[in-house]
Amino acid sequence: MPAKSIAGYPRRRARKPHAKSPPLRILFAAAEVQPFVKTGGLADMAGALPLALHQAGGDVRVVLPAYRAVLQNLRDAPVVATIMETRHAFRILQTRLPDTAVRVYLVDAPALFDRAGTPYQDERGHDWHDNPQRFACFCDAIEALSLDRAGLSWRPDVLHCNDWHTGLAPARLALQSQRPATVFTVHNMAYQGNFPRETFSALGLPQQLWSSDGLEFHGMVSFIKSGLAFADRLTTVSPAYAREITMPEYGCGLDGLLRHRADRLSGTLNGVDYNVWDPRRDPFIDTPYGPDRLAGKRANKLRLQEELGLKQGRNFVVLALISRLTQQKGIDLVLAALPELLRDETVQLIVLGSGDRGLEAATGDAARHYPGRVAVHIGHNEALAHRIQAGADMLLSPSRFEPCGLTHLYSMRYGTVPVVRNTGGLADTVVDANGENLRAGTATGFHFTDVTSAALLKAARRAVHLYHTDARLWRRIMHAAMKREFAWAHSAATYDALYRQLLPRLRPDTVRAVNTVDHARPDHLTKPTS
Ligand code: ADP
Repeated sequence: MPAKSIAGYPRRRARKPHAKSPPLRILFAAAEVQPFVKTGGLADMAGALPLALHQAGGDVRVVLPAYRAVLQNLRDAPVVATIMETRHAFRILQTRLPDTAVRVYLVDAPALFDRAGTPYQDERGHDWHDNPQRFACFCDAIEALSLDRAGLSWRPDVLHCNDWHTGLAPARLALQSQRPATVFTVHNMAYQGNFPRETFSALGLPQQLWSSDGLEFHGMVSFIKSGLAFADRLTTVSPAYAREITMPEYGCGLDGLLRHRADRLSGTLNGVDYNVWDPRRDPFIDTPYGPDRLAGKRANKLRLQEELGLKQGRNFVVLALISRLTQQKGIDLVLAALPELLRDETVQLIVLGSGDRGLEAATGDAARHYPGRVAVHIGHNEALAHRIQAGADMLLSPSRFEPCGLTHLYSMRYGTVPVVRNTGGLADTVVDANGENLRAGTATGFHFTDVTSAALLKAARRAVHLYHTDARLWRRIMHAAMKREFAWAHSAATYDALYRQLLPRLRPDTVRAVNTVDHARPDHLTKPTS
C-alpha cells in the first residue's frame, strides 16, 4: 500500500490558537500521522487532534518515524538533534504539520525506517521481521524527547502515546522519577505487538519489566500490554469501545488488566477534520454540495459510476465500503450477502480497500462476476475515497468490532447514509432509522446487531427500500446525518481536561512554569493484577 503523498492534500485554514488557560506541553506519539503517512484512522486522529489541541492553546509536538515515504514528500526537515543510545543512534528531524505551527519530530534511523512498504509491512504484505527493533527504537526516541535528553530545551508535561508501536515508552518512563504524565490510547485492541520472549532480552529491556504485572503476556513480550499496564491514563476512541474492551469478547486477552485498571480507562470519540472532509469544499470532488444543495451529490454519483465502470443512472442505489480488508471490517459478510442483495436490479456496490490477500482476491472476484454492478479498487487511494463518499448513497460498516470508525463519520457529512453494525463507535454515533427516530427526525442511518450476512442483508434492504419508496424521508435522514457535528475541538477539550487531571498538584495557572512532574509509582506496581 503506497503511503499517501502530501501533494494535493487540502490546505488547512489557519486559525489562531486561543489560550484560555496556560498551555500544557504535550508530546503526541504515533506510528502514522496524516498527511505524512497513513494506513488507517490512527493517522487521521494523529494529524488532527494535535492541531485541535494547539488551537485550544496547547504547546503540542508530534513525533513519528521518518519512513522513506515521509521523507520523499518533504522539501525541508532540518536535523535538530542526534541521539546515541546503547542499541542505536538516530537523528531527530523537524518539520510542521502542513499549514500549521505544530512542530513534528521525525525519528530518522535509516536502517530501520528508510524502506519501501507501509509503516508495518513490506510490499508483499508481510510484517517487517524487525518490527520489535523498529518500534523499540521509536520508543527510545519518545523517551529521549520526553526527558529532554535530545537537547531541545523542551520537556512535555504529558506524553500521549497511541497503539502498540508506542507502548514501551510509558513502561520505560515509569522507571524514571522525574517524568511527564503518560496517556495511552488504544485504537485497536487486536493489534498488540506481541513477540517471542527472546525479543525482551534482545531489546535490552530492564529485567524488572518482565512479569505478569508488566510486559509478559502468555510467555511473549507485549508492547500493547506495556502501554496498558504502565500509562497513567488509558483511553480509547469511543465510549462504547472503552466498555467493550473490559469484556472477554472484545478484550483480546487483556480484558482482565483493563477491568483492573477500569478507573483509569475512558473513551473519547474521535472527531472529523472538516477542513479535509466536507463536500462543500472538498478539492477531490467534481461538484461541491451541502445539505441545501443536494443536486451536487447526484452529479458526483453519475461521475463516480462513470469512473468505476458502473451502469450510470440516478435510479441505481450505490452502496460503498471503504476499508482495510480484514476480518474485523466484515467484508466477508458483504460478499456472502451479495447474491441476495443484487437480486434487486437497482443495487450497485463499490469497494475500495486493501489488506488480507484472500479477502482482496474474493472481493476482486465479485467485481468480475457482476460487471457494471460491482466495482472494486484494491489499494489505498485517498482521492478516490473522497469521490466515493461524495457519490455513493450508502456506506456499509459491518464491523465485528469498531473502536471508533471514521469512514461513517465522514459519510454522514457527505449525506451518504451509513448502514452499520451496532458496536463500538458505530453504535455511539449512528442513530437507527426505526419508527421512533424517524418520527423524531433524529435518524441518521441503519443498525444491525448479529454478525451474520442475513442481519446485514436485512438492514441494507431496509435502507434500499426506504431510499426507493420515500424520497422525502430519505432526504430527512441525509439532512440529519449531514448536520451531525463531530468536531475535533470537542474531543480536544475532553483530552485537555484529562491531561490536567493528571497534574493534580499543579494549579492550572502554574502549569507553564513547571517542566516536570514527579509521579508516584503506577498503581499496578503496588497492587496485584487480577
Ligand atoms: P481503521 O483505522 O480501523 O482502518 P477507520 O474507519 O477508523 O478504520 O479509518 C479508516 C481511514 O482510512 C479513513 O480515513 C478511510 O477513509 C481510510 N481508508 C481506509 N481504506 C482506504 C483505502 N483503501 N483508500 C483510501 N483511504 C482508505
